[in-house]
Amino acid sequence: MDCLFCEIVKGNIPSKKVYEDESVFAFWDIAPMAPVHVLIVPKMHISSVNEVTSENSAVISHIYEVAAQLAKELGVAEDGYRIVTNCGKNAGQTVFHLHFHLLGGTALKVEMC
Ligand code: 5GP
Ligand code: ZN
Repeated sequence: MDCLFCEIVKGNIPSKKVYEDESVFAFWDIAPMAPVHVLIVPKMHISSVNEVTSENSAVISHIYEVAAQLAKELGVAEDGYRIVTNCGKNAGQTVFHLHFHLLGGTALKVEMC
């Protein structure tokens, strides 16, 4: 399987790591859309929200715990931030390994779509 984020998690493709534990990996987005733009991914390959089930969903709640911790560490918790997950073509998903964009550090556009 040829998956960019699996290769980043394994360290085969370099990234600027922000956080890692046994099930989650976080790194700076290569093309940031805000002063803080970090991608938080499960280490296990889940291609999108469409593939989340009762078997693998524990990692999703853990990702939100990590997001809360990173938001504090990166200095955006107080002023606020956005967590975005694109799923599929209409949402513009380009990498088919589930990932959560943590965006902050400036006032974000209010429009959601
Ligand atoms: P999506 O459009 O699928 O929601 O988001 C994919 C994100 O991955 C984009 O924000 C894009 O900039 C980022 N990205 C794509 N390739 C790489 C890469 O090789 N390294 C890093 N750090 N980010 C990447
Ligand atoms: Zn993957």
